Amino acid sequence: MPYAKPTSLLQHRLGARVVRTDEASRFAGSFDGSKIAFDCDAVIRVRKDADVGVVMDLANEYCVPVTVRGGGTSLTGSASPRFGGWVLDLSRLTKVRIEAEAGLAIVQAGAKVGDVQRAAAAAGWFYPPDPSSKEHSTIGGNIACNAGGMHGGKYGVTRDYVLSLTGYLPTGERVKWAGEFKKWSAGFNLRDLWIGSEGCLGIVTEAVLKLIPAPAERWTLLAAFRDEAAAFAAARALIASRLQPAILEFLDRASVGCAEQASGKPVFAEAPKKPVLLLELAGSSAEVTEQKKAVLAWAEEYAVVSRAARSREEAEELWAVRRKCSPAMFALGDSKLNEDIVLPLKSYAAFGEFLEKLKKRHRLAMPTFGTSW
Ligand SMILES: Cc1cc2nc3c(=O)[nH]c(=O)nc-3n(C[C@H](O)[C@H](O)[C@H](O)COP(=O)(O)OP(=O)(O)OC[C@H]3O[C@@H](n4cnc5c(N)ncnc54)[C@H](O)[C@@H]3O)c2cc1C
Repeated sequence: MPYAKPTSLLQHRLGARVVRTDEASRFAGSFDGSKIAFDCDAVIRVRKDADVGVVMDLANEYCVPVTVRGGGTSLTGSASPRFGGWVLDLSRLTKVRIEAEAGLAIVQAGAKVGDVQRAAAAAGWFYPPDPSSKEHSTIGGNIACNAGGMHGGKYGVTRDYVLSLTGYLPTGERVKWAGEFKKWSAGFNLRDLWIGSEGCLGIVTEAVLKLIPAPAERWTLLAAFRDEAAAFAAARALIASRLQPAILEFLDRASVGCAEQASGKPVFAEAPKKPVLLLELAGSSAEVTEQKKAVLAWAEEYAVVSRAARSREEAEELWAVRRKCSPAMFALGDSKLNEDIVLPLKSYAAFGEFLEKLKKRHRLAMPTFGTSW
């Protein structure tokens, strides 16, 4: 192992239970969600914030490459130890504290996003960023990747909820950017430079997150359309009408086909294998009641068929269509390559046409789904 000396020094400082060099630990740290794998000298499962400083100080002195790791759900290989050295695993730093009065969450980097959401909800607050990986990905990883999710259109992405960051520079020096306050306007904004930097500028160990009041009511509708172009036109019309759904998800025919194959039943018996939009309204009871009327009129005008959930259980069944579609795609082949693209609303129709041509030219299955605003 090329970094045997600093690794044994680190073991001496933090203990062999923290600095793991056994094959099973190194294997577990060798890949992320992309399955791109590289061996490393050690996986360091830190137990406290200060351990990160010790690791970085020694890594800096001996020029050991360090790859930071949260939940390891990255789909780009960014948590795989491309240059060997050490994998710095923060998944044990899991403390979450809610400041209910101020609407803040003070969260260690290894806390799972789903746990933060549940802690916020228990105090009557809402933490909106919700990547589909939220039960496995960590707040530190979400900050490093500026993760988004289905709520992005209305509520924004991780960056919009980070008030301050505490962490370590590659030299091992502890830093804090901004603080536990919502208004911050003085000085260089290094906090936002760190967000989305994928661990290249420093290591986040704690964040203060802004929470917002939890919506009192939610309402879910699933609508099927004649074809993809009709679904895109309907999505544009909905947004142009100033309605702000909390979630607006698009699934093309191929994605719906995969979900139907996985569940063994059509999404809409009246219109099988049609592209769908799945939307959720969220807000005060009065807001949702008002918007519901407008959405039902919109569905009447644009959709072939639509179905509103009458209870949270029914809503969950509708959301299951969305959740199943990605894993269900393995019915089409034994591997898949995910591409995450972002388009201006006005380019949806042109993109749809381009995609159809691309599918024909390459004769490849290209199921397309995602947040449509
Ligand atoms: C099934 C599935 C669904 C997904 N859905 C979404 C989605 O809806 N939206 C979305 O945005 N992403 C999604 N992703 C991608 C991934 O979950 C996110 O990028 C997530 O933010 C990664 O978090 P993590 O804790 O797993 O980080 P890791 O994968 O461990 O690390 C990701 C990157 O962040 C760095 N990093 C991790 N922790 C820290 C830290 N504390 N300080 C500094 N750098 C750090 C790592 O070095 C690496 O570069 C999905 C992935 C999967 C597998």
